Amino acid sequence: MLTDNFGRTINYLRLAVTDRCNLRCQYCMPAEGIDIVDRKDLLTYKEMYRITRVLSELGVNKVRLTGGEPFVRKDFISFLEMLSFNRNLDTINITTNGALIKPHINKLETLGIKTINLSLDTLQKDRFKTITRRDLFDQTISTLHTLLNSTLTIKLNVVVQSGFNTDEISDFIELTKDNRFEVRFIEEMPFNGKGLRVTDENWNYDKILTQIKQDFKAITILPTEKSATAQKFKIDHFQGSFGIIPAFTRTICHDCNRIRITATGLFKNCLFDDGVFNIRDFIRSGASDDDLKKVFIETVNQKPKNGFIAEQNRKNTNVSESMSTIGG
Ligand code: SAM
Ligand code: SF4
Repeated sequence: MLTDNFGRTINYLRLAVTDRCNLRCQYCMPAEGIDIVDRKDLLTYKEMYRITRVLSELGVNKVRLTGGEPFVRKDFISFLEMLSFNRNLDTINITTNGALIKPHINKLETLGIKTINLSLDTLQKDRFKTITRRDLFDQTISTLHTLLNSTLTIKLNVVVQSGFNTDEISDFIELTKDNRFEVRFIEEMPFNGKGLRVTDENWNYDKILTQIKQDFKAITILPTEKSATAQKFKIDHFQGSFGIIPAFTRTICHDCNRIRITATGLFKNCLFDDGVFNIRDFIRSGASDDDLKKVFIETVNQKPKNGFIAEQNRKNTNVSESMSTIGG
C-alpha cells in the first residue's frame, strides 16, 4: 500500500496523457500556448500503462486521465481500451474540454468509463471565445447534450474567474434544476504560465458560497465522501447538485489521496510541488517493476502535509507553470 508520513493512503492517480491542447484558456496558458515538449519526451502509452499497472498493484484503484486535452493525443481511445483491462482499477474518469469527444461517447460507455468532467466556464458563446481563445462553444455544448443522453456521470468544471464569469454562477446552478449533473466551481489558481493574476476581488470558496446564498435560499449541504475535493450542495427539489473546490485555499489537504504524473513522467505528490521524481527517465534506464514499486513507496512517503508546505519546498520559486503541463 502507498501511505505517507501523515497516515494518508494514496489510491488515486491523475495522469496527464499529453501537454498539448486545442484550446488556450486564459487561466491555464498564455495566448501563444506553452512550449510543448518533443514527442519523444512524452511518456508513451506503453509506459503509462506500465506505470498505472505497477501503481495499481500498490493499491491505486482510481485513475483520472487529463492533460492538456486527452483527446488531442492520437490513439487515446486505444489507450483507454488497454487500461480497461486492468482489473485492479475500479474507476477510470476523464477530464476534457469536450470539443472533440462527441464521436467517442458510445465507445466511452462500452469501455466502462464512469465520469466525464467537462470543463465549461461560461454559457455564453462570445464569452467562451474570450476565455478559451477559440471558437468551439457549439461543439462543447453539443457534447454536453450527447453526454446527457448517455449513461456517463457528468460533472461540469467551472473555473471562477474574477471579472469574467462570476455573474454566471447562479445560471450554472439553475442548470441543475432539470439536469442530473453536478456543477463544480473551482477556485482559480496561478497555474497559467505567468503566475498569480492580480484581481480586484478574491473569488475564493467563501465568496462563491456567499454569492450563491444570495440567490438561492433552500440549500442543503450534502455528505462528502472521504478525500473528496469538493464540498457538495443541492438546491431543494433540483435534480442535480453543485460543489465548490477550494483548490487554492487548500483546505482539503488533510485527507488527500492523490498523486499526479505529468505527460513527461514527472511524479508529483502535490499539485503545488514542482515534481519530485522523473519516472520516464527511470523506466528508460531499465528499472524493473520492483524498482518502480520501491521508488513509488519511498516517494509517496515524503508527501508534504499540505499544499502550502509543498509550495514552500519548491526548488523553482513561483507557482506559474501551466495546468496543461501538470495535468489538472
Ligand atoms: N483540457 C482538459 C480540460 O480543460 O478539461 C483537461 C486538462 S485541464 C488542465 C483540467 C482542469 O483544470 C480543467 O477543468 C481546467 O478548467 C482546470 N484548470 C486549468 N487551469 C486552471 C487554473 N489556473 N486554476 C484552476 N483550474 C484550472
Ligand atoms: Fe486546454 Fe484544458 Fe488548459 Fe483549457 S484548461 S487550455 S482546455 S488544458
